[in-house]
Amino acid sequence: MSAVPPRRADLSALDGYHSPQVAATVRLNANESPFPPPESWRDDLAGAVERIEFNRYPDRSAAALRSALGELHGVGADEVFCANGSNEVLQSLLLAYGGPGRRALLFEPTYTLHAHICGLTGTEVVAGRRDAGFRVEESEALRLLAETAPTVTFLCSPNNPTGRAEPAGLVRSVLEHAPGLVVVDEAYGQFAPWSALSLREGPGAAGPGSGLVVVRTFSKTWSMAASRLGYLVADREVVGACEAATLPYHLSALSQAAGVLALRYTAEMEARVALIAEERGRVAAGLAALPVESWPSDANFILFRPLSKPADGVWRALLERSVLVRNCASWAGLPGCLRVTVGTPSENNRFLEALEESLR
Ligand SMILES: *Cc1c(COP(=O)(O)O)cnc(C)c1O
Repeated sequence: MSAVPPRRADLSALDGYHSPQVAATVRLNANESPFPPPESWRDDLAGAVERIEFNRYPDRSAAALRSALGELHGVGADEVFCANGSNEVLQSLLLAYGGPGRRALLFEPTYTLHAHICGLTGTEVVAGRRDAGFRVEESEALRLLAETAPTVTFLCSPNNPTGRAEPAGLVRSVLEHAPGLVVVDEAYGQFAPWSALSLREGPGAAGPGSGLVVVRTFSKTWSMAASRLGYLVADREVVGACEAATLPYHLSALSQAAGVLALRYTAEMEARVALIAEERGRVAAGLAALPVESWPSDANFILFRPLSKPADGVWRALLERSVLVRNCASWAGLPGCLRVTVGTPSENNRFLEALEESLR
């Protein structure tokens, strides 16, 4: 008789990775943009939806979206791969280049989904540690590269949840010594002072044949988390491998249209980023006046550690005031830490007020 069998044993171990969606009026837990995309983008999209032939499969190669992204970054459309959020981009990379018998190197604390997707794809994780200031030590990175020969090395720049961009020198050095792909996750790239995309040009460039993979998303700076759209820029061979690892027609006509139209509003995106960067300075100054330790950020979030009260209690006290932040206290290497997303000016005020009360 048919019965639900036990699930894959290694999958059960991966339970509990997803952050709960808790109701709160001030939601500063997922590093989303607090601002919607431009109203005219919505109108453009409504017009595009009217023209979609819904009875037909979408363009399997997402040609228009890839060439628009190629134009944005000055690369060929064949050096761009798009998927449903950068998480699916990362999954495609690991399906193609990870798997049983292969290793991926990452440096904790970092974005938990990197290890999670390794688990889903049966890729062994080699977890290096960051130093006390959450920096990747070059000597430690080179030692692990030489000892473990990973097919994939993850860097996250700016690093979620600690906030700093990886220094260009470190990324260059890792690229020089890594035997496989170097995946630089730039989900917050537009907030950062530099991009690994710049390493594709100039002397000693990570050009054709290089294992440099830069991953970006529409979820944060483009204010389009609901669209589920992300992409990578890499050597065409990597793009081809990701395509081979992806289901046919994985990217809906809706997502493709949303992305193409968004790229017409780059200036608006940059203005939102500038405003959030300004607010980040204000939130950082507010935190500096409270009994918390906090870390500098090149992104749209700030990591902090309450000093006067345990983090779990502060997290709950904030939620009682309808302010939701991310509780990172149980993450590797982040005891007692919380992470707050920079929101609108009024949300940030509410957060700082609620935090002040919660720390009393
Ligand atoms: C938010 C985030 C992503 C985004 O994932 P999507 O699937 O594109 O929404 C990717 N990487 C990091 C480091 C992030 O913080």
